Amino acid sequence: MKTYIVGNWKLNFTVGESSIYLHKLQKKIPNYRDVEVVVAPTALALQSLSLQIDRHKMKLSAQNAFYRDFGAYTGEISFAQLRGMVDYCIVGHSERRYIFGEDDKMIQKKVEAAVRNKITPILCVGETESERAFGETADVIRDQVLGGLADVSEEDIDKVIIAYEPIWAISSTKASKLASPDEIAEAVKLIRKVLAELYDKETVEKIPILFGGSVNPSNAGAYLTVPGVNGLLIGGSSLILSEFTDIIEVAKRVRA
Ligand code: PEP
Repeated sequence: MKTYIVGNWKLNFTVGESSIYLHKLQKKIPNYRDVEVVVAPTALALQSLSLQIDRHKMKLSAQNAFYRDFGAYTGEISFAQLRGMVDYCIVGHSERRYIFGEDDKMIQKKVEAAVRNKITPILCVGETESERAFGETADVIRDQVLGGLADVSEEDIDKVIIAYEPIWAISSTKASKLASPDEIAEAVKLIRKVLAELYDKETVEKIPILFGGSVNPSNAGAYLTVPGVNGLLIGGSSLILSEFTDIIEVAKRVRA
């Protein structure tokens, strides 16, 4: 399985800045066969970047899309419109869940629409700080995995990526708020256990599980060597070109 390094730019960079960043990134990194580099810029930049991107070196992801293909849904962009333009789409990011009120039902429909439109969903799951404190982590992860994948068949599950993102560890500046390798290993094991309730054991081993939560060049190596982790979803550090390329280098070294 490849190692995935996914940069989520969130609501940062103008279209012009996105293009300049991509240009510099493409110049800096060679084509790494075992490392799948993915960037998720603003939706506004997807079309132009899809023409600019060197797909041998990296792939494009959307940050979000709506589950209906077309219709009276003012302000939305659909997976059908993104088809052919992006290879991936982040679905159910905690900012979508908690700022924009997306629930498991909606996320389930988005995962299904992504797969139907040949876009790999990167389904984000993870508990809040208080859910962890109250011992609810396992239940939350279970509900989010089962909910998100309810419409994905055995045949299609190899087109899905899961990202474990404990919300308390996202954009953290405090060492005490960083997820430890043991905590991640436990969560990833649990995710595979839940996946095994839905899919064949052999298939489950092939589903990539990424970790996200304040990843930077200094902790990327430790996170990438957590058993069961197949890549990283990176917010803040992906906005700094030198940090993002350092993380890609770390991934390459870990794979070597
Ligand atoms: C995220 O929001 O998906 C994320 C992992 O952000 P950061 O790397 O900034 O914690």
